[in-house]
Amino acid sequence: MKLKKIILYDEESIPEIKISDLVNFIKDNFSVELVIKGNFFQKLENNDINSLAGTRIFDIYKKYNTFEPEQKTIELERKLCTNSSFMENTTKIEDAKNISDVVMYDGFEMQKFIRENINYITNDTLHIIFTNRLTCTFDDTDSRYHGRAVICANPAIISTTGIIEAPAKSKEFYIQAMESKSQGLDISTVKTMHKGEFLEYHDKRLSKVIEGYILQIIFYNITGESFCEYLDCRLNNAHWQRDLLYSQIEVSKLCKKHQNILDMQK
Ligand SMILES: [Zn+2]
Repeated sequence: MKLKKIILYDEESIPEIKISDLVNFIKDNFSVELVIKGNFFQKLENNDINSLAGTRIFDIYKKYNTFEPEQKTIELERKLCTNSSFMENTTKIEDAKNISDVVMYDGFEMQKFIRENINYITNDTLHIIFTNRLTCTFDDTDSRYHGRAVICANPAIISTTGIIEAPAKSKEFYIQAMESKSQGLDISTVKTMHKGEFLEYHDKRLSKVIEGYILQIIFYNITGESFCEYLDCRLNNAHWQRDLLYSQIEVSKLCKKHQNILDMQK
């Protein structure tokens, strides 16, 4: 695929995305035209809001099946479309008594929805949609959904909540957090003890980390491959927060092979 243009759809309720920095980052690395648009979901009509609500998942052990969303699901979706910062009032994974209390979406269904709602998609224009909705994909190997930071292809989705929740925190953190919860305490002390080791909501490092996910999306669309096995490469598909921060912040560059591919694109 020869890319001519990239359209970024901002999620304004997360200013840490720093959309104009990302535009400069892409311009520095690829010779493409860039367009910034507002929140993709903001101007949806009633029918579309219903369809978007229909991409929600409620049971992480059940593969997506088309369904008619309940009225309260549609109402929540309408609220999120009007004011996406309302997502911050919904249950976070760490506070959830039951995982089904968390607002989650099937990432591929959401992608399908977005594709149907973009007027025309051409091969030379890549659409990247930012959202604070939590995208998940069903993994057949362990028959359950997992949070996803990025859905590649075109249109592509970057979920800021996915970046924070999908790559796992350290085992020590989970053990200590569980101990705290079993004693009826909240986990803020444990979080302080591990501060900096993982991304938190409204983390200042988000924009830098997103650069890596943008590279993964662009590489996927150019070469058909998005990920790299090396930790010393920004295309590494991190399963741990520690690895994510290492590849994107500490190393912050591509491996030789992928740098060569990038150089050929300029
Ligand atoms: Zn690489």
